[in-house]
Amino acid sequence: MKRNILILLLFLPLALIAEANGEFEFLHNASFSFHGGIPYIRAHIASYASGVVFENVSSFDCNGRSIEAKSIMVKPKSFSPAEVRQKIILQELSLNEQRDYSKTAEKWKKSLGEEVELYVRGALFSINKSTVDNREYFIALKRLFADQEAESKLKTLRELYPDKPITSFQVMQSVSHSEIEVTVDNDKKYNCSDLLEVYPENGLSAAGVSFPKGHYFLTVSEGERVDLSVDAAVDSLIERILPGEMFLSAPLETLKAQAIAARTDIFMQLGKRHLNEPWHICSEVHCQKIIWNGRIQDKFKEAVAQTAGMVITHNGNQVARAPYCSSAGGRTEDVRNVWFTAEKPYLSGVWDGEKPLKLDLSKERDLKKFLETDYGEDNLPMNKRHRWRVVIPQEEIDSLVNSYKKIGTLTEIKALARGVSGRIYKAEFIGKSSSFVMYGELNIRKLLNNMFSSAFISTRTEEGWVFEGMGWGHGVGMSQMGAVSLGKKGKKFDYILKRYYPGVEIIKLY
Ligand SMILES: [Zn+2]
Repeated sequence: MKRNILILLLFLPLALIAEANGEFEFLHNASFSFHGGIPYIRAHIASYASGVVFENVSSFDCNGRSIEAKSIMVKPKSFSPAEVRQKIILQELSLNEQRDYSKTAEKWKKSLGEEVELYVRGALFSINKSTVDNREYFIALKRLFADQEAESKLKTLRELYPDKPITSFQVMQSVSHSEIEVTVDNDKKYNCSDLLEVYPENGLSAAGVSFPKGHYFLTVSEGERVDLSVDAAVDSLIERILPGEMFLSAPLETLKAQAIAARTDIFMQLGKRHLNEPWHICSEVHCQKIIWNGRIQDKFKEAVAQTAGMVITHNGNQVARAPYCSSAGGRTEDVRNVWFTAEKPYLSGVWDGEKPLKLDLSKERDLKKFLETDYGEDNLPMNKRHRWRVVIPQEEIDSLVNSYKKIGTLTEIKALARGVSGRIYKAEFIGKSSSFVMYGELNIRKLLNNMFSSAFISTRTEEGWVFEGMGWGHGVGMSQMGAVSLGKKGKKFDYILKRYYPGVEIIKLY
């Protein structure tokens, strides 16, 4: 039952290498299979408790042997987890910094008194005649950390460098192994190593949910969990991602732009996530939400089919990051001001309208003027977040702010730094007894009861704290409401994407 598999990676940094000795090892690496010119990747569908029963199995492979079955009950018997270490990342390097990273590395070394190195994540891979590159370059601590040790190191570093994207990436040392007990049709028992491959001819079903014909994997993980994943054509996954990201009545060209953004995200993340699990992507927001239940509407399928294989690239063949948010409010934000990443020209803030304005929204005075206008592609009647006003009573805001740090009655929120869209990324919260500084637009929004965006001006009034602002979300990349508006005006998908990701190319991989 094994299909012909081509490993397409031309180059893999050490962190991604797992030799393809047998199927299970193969599952644990960044490469993917290829059927009829179309790339297939593995997506996690769901986790079940030990003893889960799968119906309509048809047949499955266990230790290289094919066994016929109507139903199987699956129980983990043993599990030894993958050995994983953490690589601590200090900063991302821009295109310019990559050319001469030694200066940046030297600065970090001096500042920390620790050895640092250039760390490359991602790979250069080829699909049909195209070569694409999803590598990213970072300065990282040289030594590897165990999980708990990494956590405390991250905490210390984040306190020292609150405006740096200090994070950690998993580095695989060895893969996991397991024994799985399978009871076939309430009768015969089999012990299978590491995984079962299931080939249902009709809908495989478990816990009342059924899944279409396909090539499925059953594996086990920590906590006696049984995991179901599937080897699926990338575009069939995008069909199931789209409905969670955009409504059916959106213009087709808008859906096409969204489909390309979703596909780009998959290729950007390929080989970077879930390294210690036998799938490339999960079905949750962590990767992209995949809706497994129900039939896919034809319009979503059409949007995916008409853009088959298309992804967004920049600087030649480099796969872009393609973030999006619900509503930018008329001006998108520079990626650096939101996630403190390296500079990315295609993710710099743009005016989301016909003509740019002569305003500097990082200045409160200009932002105030801007909030009084209705400027912005996403100014649609259905968009309630283009401009907004939120009131938080004094008592409530005191409890929100003091739950982070005791500062007494809040008297002032000082915007210490705003991005090009007016989004605050550094704010001082001043109370009667003390104060604190908070970095990051998301942290600031979360602290303020999940404020729609941090592009706001706040005033303390008798009524309470009044927040007047614009947009919903981080503001980087595509404004989905803006994309809907452009689609309604008859703009094509490539126009829409190039508005929000300036200077990119759209290429067709397959
Ligand atoms: Zn994920």
